[in-house]
Amino acid sequence: MLKIGLTGGIGSGKSTVAQLFERLGVPVIDADRIARELVEPGRPALKAIQAAFGSEVITPDGRLDRAKLRANVFADASARKTLEAILHPPIFAEMERRSRRCAAPYGLLVIPLLIETKAQDRVDRVLVVDCPEALQIERIRRRDRLPEELILNILASQASRAERLEAADEVICNTGNLRDLERQVEELHRFYLRLSGHAQPDPTAP
Ligand code: ADP
Repeated sequence: MLKIGLTGGIGSGKSTVAQLFERLGVPVIDADRIARELVEPGRPALKAIQAAFGSEVITPDGRLDRAKLRANVFADASARKTLEAILHPPIFAEMERRSRRCAAPYGLLVIPLLIETKAQDRVDRVLVVDCPEALQIERIRRRDRLPEELILNILASQASRAERLEAADEVICNTGNLRDLERQVEELHRFYLRLSGHAQPDPTAP
């Protein structure tokens, strides 16, 4: 399976784009979803997080307190590195395992921190969802109701827009409406099918 690494800053529209590909029948393997599974109660990664950050990041019923952990790591780069060292290796191993099981011509690996983790070599192509930072901030504010300071900390901890675009093989420009996004996804779908040698015959061709 041809592996397309989908990335973009927080609030750029990755999940929305991934859903549109999924609707076209493309398998989607999502790093964030795997990360959430890895920290379920009793999993080794949760124990490692508790050992590194203390019991204050664990709720009374034994779950990860995401808000506390997030406040912790986005204010402190070394804490973030510690968390990444715990989570990234098992996330990548699981993504690899799941993509080996897929039989589709191509699949999407949603990796928000693809550039930051230098994971370009783990995928065949890098697809970047791009929009101006001001629009990212507006979307996150509306979606998550996070304080402005935390949003800015998260943005500062991520690769810049220019760094992402530099690494991109393809770019989706998400400054328009959902219909614009859909059109770009449909076009890329045809492109990736062609690239993987599974072009669909064009019904309008003579
Ligand atoms: P990411 O996964 O990159 O953090 P999302 O796909 O969750 O971003 O998008 C962030 C928010 O913006 C979501 O609430 C989503 O519904 C909204 N959104 C994304 N793209 C558009 C768009 N083109 N038009 C309107 N709303 C959008």
